[in-house]
Amino acid sequence: MTVVIGRASLQWRMRGVDVSIRGRGAVATSLALALGQQGLRVSLSAAAVPDPARTDVRAYALNAASKRLLQRLKVWDVLPVDAVTPVYDMHVRGDRPAGQLTFSSWTQCVDALAWIVDATELDAALNAALQFAAHVQRGDAASAAALTVYAEGKDSAAREAIGVQFDRHGYGHIAIAARLTTTDSHQGVAHQWFRSPDVLALLPFDRPTAERSFALVWSLPQERATLLMQMDADAFEAELQGAAADMPVGLRLASERSAWPLAIASAHPVCGAGWVLLGDAAHVVHPLAGQGLNLGLGDVQALADTLAAREPWRPLGDARLLGRYARARAWPVKSMSWLTDALVHGFASEHAWVRELRNRGMGLVDRASPAKRWLATQALEG
Ligand SMILES: Cc1cc2nc3c(=O)[nH]c(=O)nc-3n(C[C@H](O)[C@H](O)[C@H](O)COP(=O)(O)OP(=O)(O)OC[C@H]3O[C@@H](n4cnc5c(N)ncnc54)[C@H](O)[C@@H]3O)c2cc1C
Repeated sequence: MTVVIGRASLQWRMRGVDVSIRGRGAVATSLALALGQQGLRVSLSAAAVPDPARTDVRAYALNAASKRLLQRLKVWDVLPVDAVTPVYDMHVRGDRPAGQLTFSSWTQCVDALAWIVDATELDAALNAALQFAAHVQRGDAASAAALTVYAEGKDSAAREAIGVQFDRHGYGHIAIAARLTTTDSHQGVAHQWFRSPDVLALLPFDRPTAERSFALVWSLPQERATLLMQMDADAFEAELQGAAADMPVGLRLASERSAWPLAIASAHPVCGAGWVLLGDAAHVVHPLAGQGLNLGLGDVQALADTLAAREPWRPLGDARLLGRYARARAWPVKSMSWLTDALVHGFASEHAWVRELRNRGMGLVDRASPAKRWLATQALEG
């Protein structure tokens, strides 16, 4: 048995790889699994093994499309039960009583609006699945793959080396992420406050305490974020409870705080003959709508579909073929970048009339079912 596997792997190495993937985040590993399922021979960066000592305190809000992809990759169902928490309702508040918007899975006729997934567990599950992916080889194979995919994240080094333009605009804001516990049950409700100039999100989570935990993402101007990062836990919790007003009560820190500088960015072009950029290497959005990884997993699905549907004679790195992928992703990525950027600017303004308008606008959308349904569908399906 060992001899057979050894021979197969030797033959495999001699024939080279079809697709070389550079990167070690969720986008790179998901793509390796998806292409491996198609029988393509894939090499994935050697550094793909996560450091067990390094934990990411973030939890991702993943949409239904991302969940379906992870199910097909046989990753979703092996995630620990308490590493995935469904969101049934979402309460969005402005900075005036009129500014209220609520979304519900019940009125949307879906199982859940989103699923909050532990970032470290997702990484571990993706990497565990790779061990069973016969067509995926780890290593920076210098082999001449027909297609090289760069999924190196927002600071991709290869992007510049291949001459891609990367338009990046820093918001001057930092997102503070942490895990929290509370004395109330979260009841599967996500809370978000849009208050000039910060955006605060509390995502219901079942770790460390089932039904009584939240994942925090708090975006603030850099100076204020630095102050909050320097505060001791008691002072930070008091500021947080003040910002979250009356609910949920008894918020306590249950992890370190981590800080993430925020920007919007997009690469031009995203592909050329023999190469393509995916995930944050191609586009970065503000996390206020929790859509960055959803967009990246949308890229994975679209590239896998494009390669699977290619004509038998067309090489994997064919520029026309990759152009089909780029066209398929252009609108979903552009519309989400535009929406998140408009929300950031609309809610950052301190002008009284802008403040009035946005709060009234939220109230209007809340009463206009089709607009609300459209917004929820964009978030659910990416
Ligand atoms: C605070 C915060 C909250 C967020 N919340 C959400 C959310 O709720 N929902 C959501 O959908 N998105 C969310 N996002 C966005 C999400 O984190 C990113 O969009 C996603 O992680 C991008 O994945 P990626 O694989 O493209 O890049 P990355 O996660 O950056 O992974 C790329 C990895 O590849 C490595 N690398 C680079 N070059 C190489 C190389 N040559 N070889 C090997 N490895 C290399 C990098 O070091 C990096 O580890 C959030 C982001 C932030 C900052």
